[in-house]
Amino acid sequence: MTEIISPAVAVIVAGGSGSRFGGPVPKQYLPLAGLPVIRHTALAFLHHPQVSRVLVVIRPEDDALARAALEGLDIAAFIPGGADRQASVLAGLVAAQAYSPATVLIQDAARPLVSETMISAALNALQTHDGAVPALPVTDTLKRAEAGRIGGTLPREGLYRAQTPQCFRFDAILAAHRAAIGLSLTDDAAVAEAAGLTVALTPGDEAALKITTSGDLHRAALLLCPPDADTVTGTGFDVHAFDEGSFVTLCGVKIPHSMGLSGHSDADVALHALTDAILGAIADGDIGAHFPPSDMRWKGADSGHFLRHALDLAARRGARLVHCDITLICEAPKIGPHREAMRASLQKLTGLPLARLSVKATTTEKLGFTGRREGIAAQAAATLRLPPVATEQGILPEAMPESLEE
Ligand code: MG
Repeated sequence: MTEIISPAVAVIVAGGSGSRFGGPVPKQYLPLAGLPVIRHTALAFLHHPQVSRVLVVIRPEDDALARAALEGLDIAAFIPGGADRQASVLAGLVAAQAYSPATVLIQDAARPLVSETMISAALNALQTHDGAVPALPVTDTLKRAEAGRIGGTLPREGLYRAQTPQCFRFDAILAAHRAAIGLSLTDDAAVAEAAGLTVALTPGDEAALKITTSGDLHRAALLLCPPDADTVTGTGFDVHAFDEGSFVTLCGVKIPHSMGLSGHSDADVALHALTDAILGAIADGDIGAHFPPSDMRWKGADSGHFLRHALDLAARRGARLVHCDITLICEAPKIGPHREAMRASLQKLTGLPLARLSVKATTTEKLGFTGRREGIAAQAAATLRLPPVATEQGILPEAMPESLEE
């Protein structure tokens, strides 16, 4: 990539109250295929190789909602929004100055199915333009209404529907937004146009719909996880040895014990097995490949982070965890008294109902290393619903399903 377009900061605008949607929770925080809408949106940018930071602009009263929806993700800042979208974007741009971006991507939180291809195309157009907007040609014939009747037919040639992310050279769009204070413009491209900037049109995506009604949410869910989804199962297995200590961490729950477990992270053998089971279901390597023990970042790490990462990877493929079953194998500590706390912890981590979360325990009848109380083993099975992959001459594409490419 050229230096012109790097580093790029994404500003996700989640300032809407979703009043058109009805209901107390704004649409960007509602669940879509098991994750909040805004989490899908944020993941698209966090996983994009050209995006270095992600900022989120929120209504101040949604602070707790936003932090819960994006828990565990590398969000650089939560910025309080303004009175309307335009003011919220300006607040985000002012905050983004701290990261000295060359370019900025301005994204609606309520467009969760934005694709890597769309983002790349818009960013790349900044090599020759001040701005770039993904757009789709208008294909329906346009009618003007007059008193409930057709008053005329408008030419649709050259007309496009603008989507997001709308991408700009940073300094130019910040100046344009400052100059546009007091004007009421419907998108950032309009702000750029008012300032005389050149804005390219790049390919949009029908799947990257803006969720405005409950029907849109349903449509997005069908695109992400269609009714003909496959049911797949992954398995995981892990062992950690006992060491000096006064507690062990299992399924995210600290359990007092006469010993601890040794390991680079918090040694949560149960969450490691479950993380591997989820990675197995989406055929994406193992926990060691994603979180190498040689990486000091994971020293003493909360293993819930590993699990969330696997769930996020699954979500980007449109996959949804629907059931998991963990078996802990040890003589001690006794698992039974802590089973419900572990299931509650798993519920918090996965968002699944308790009826889909199983924690079991067994011993090896004093045989082998678990029988000699040298360590704890865990095995896990994870069941996921996964969009079908199109097959072409038996080769499975790795990216999103064909239906999302349009
Ligand atoms: Mg482990």
